[in-house]
Amino acid sequence: MKIPWETFERETIDQLRALIRLNTANPPGNERIAADYLAAELGGAGIEPAIVEAAPDRANLIARIAGSDPALAPLMLSSHTDVVPVEAARWSRDPFGGEVADGCVWGRGSIDMKSKCAMDLGIALALRRAGVTPRRGLIVAAVADEEAGSELGARWLVERHPELVRAGFVLNETGGFTLFLGERRFYPIQVAEKGFVTVKMTITAAPGHGSMPRADTAIAWMAEIIGRLTRNPMRRRLTPLMRRTLAELGISPDHAPPLFRPMLSNTVTPTIVRAGYKDNVIPGEAWAILDGRTLPGEDERGFMAELREIVGPEPSLEVLKSAPPAEASADTELFSLIRRRTEAVDPGARVIPWMLPGATDSKFYAQLGAVCYGFAPVRLEARMPFGALYHGNDERMPIDGMLWGLRLYTDVVLDFLGLRRDEVFA
Ligand SMILES: [Zn+2]
Repeated sequence: MKIPWETFERETIDQLRALIRLNTANPPGNERIAADYLAAELGGAGIEPAIVEAAPDRANLIARIAGSDPALAPLMLSSHTDVVPVEAARWSRDPFGGEVADGCVWGRGSIDMKSKCAMDLGIALALRRAGVTPRRGLIVAAVADEEAGSELGARWLVERHPELVRAGFVLNETGGFTLFLGERRFYPIQVAEKGFVTVKMTITAAPGHGSMPRADTAIAWMAEIIGRLTRNPMRRRLTPLMRRTLAELGISPDHAPPLFRPMLSNTVTPTIVRAGYKDNVIPGEAWAILDGRTLPGEDERGFMAELREIVGPEPSLEVLKSAPPAEASADTELFSLIRRRTEAVDPGARVIPWMLPGATDSKFYAQLGAVCYGFAPVRLEARMPFGALYHGNDERMPIDGMLWGLRLYTDVVLDFLGLRRDEVFA
C-alpha cells in the first residue's frame, strides 16, 4: 500500500530518533543493536537483510530489492551506524536521547550519519509497501566501524564479501548541504576524497639530567620538526577536479579561502605527541603521530617521500595505517540528475563537485568499481553551524532542513531507479 508522504516524513524522523537512542559510540561500536533494529524494521515489510560480522557485535547490514532490468547496475544507499563518542557533560541535552527541541532532532549521529540511515531505510520500506519493482536494483548498506577506519565495516566487506556491496553507483555521506559563500548558495556533492597515511615519527637523542640543559634533546628536536610541519604546507597541486570546482565558484587558486586549502595539497598534521616520564630526566625518545592526507592521484609512497624531505633523514617514520584516495567522474547521468533536481528545489543555488579532505566508506566501495557520490541533502540556514556539529557537542539536525532533503533525496533515488514519486507515495 502506498503511504502518504506526510506519514513517510513523520516515520523517517521517528526512525532517526530511535537510531540515536541506540548507543553505537565507537569504540566499542556495538553496531549489532542498530543492525538488529534495522533488520526488524525491514523484516516487517518482508525484506530479509544479510547481517555479517567481522567481530562480535560489529554487525554490517545489507538489504536488497531486485530490479527488473538486469542491464542497469544497482544503486547502493550507504550509511554507517557507528558514531563518535561524546563528552556528555558538555552537551545541553542527552546525546543518546533523540529529543526534539528548537526545531531539531538532538543527539550523536543526528548529522553523522543516522539521518541518512533513516532515509535509506524509509525508502526501502516505502518501495516494498507500495509493492513496486524498480527498474534498477537497490542495495541498502548500513555498516560498522567507519569512525575508526572501517576495518570491520566497509573495508572488510569489500575485501571479504564483495558480492554483498558491489554496486554501479553509491550515494553516501557528506554532500548536498547548503554552503554559503558570500551572498551565494552552493550544494557541494562529494565526488572525490583524500586518502590517509597515519605515521608514527620517533626521534631519539642522548638522555640526560634535567639540571644540565642542552639544545640537542629529543624533545627540542621534536618541537622543531613539529614547527616545520605546521608551518610548511606540502607541495601545492591543483587536481583537474579542484580546477573545475574553483572555476565554478569563481575563486582563484592563489586566493582560495582556508576551507579549500586542504584540497590543494597533501597535508600532514601532528595529532599526538609524547615524550618524557620524570620531571628531572631528559628523555632519550620523543614520538608523534602524524595524520597525513593524500590527494587523488597521489599514493603512500609519494607522500612518504614528501614527508621525508620536510622532516630530514634522521627521524624514524613508520606507517601505522593507510588507505588510498578516491575520485569519481562528475560527468554521469546520476550527477546530472542530482544537479538538476537540487537546483530546481533551491532556485539560484548551484551544485558543484567537491573533494572531501577527510575519508568516508566511499573510498572502499569505489575499489569495486562503483561511482560514489556524497549526497545526503539538508537545507541549512546561513546561521546554522552545521560543519562544527559534525563530531561536535550538541550535534543536532534541523527538522525542516532534513525534510526538505528527504524529498529531494527520495526524488533523486526514485528517478534513478526508474520510478515516480506517485507510484510509491500517496
Ligand atoms: Zn560519517
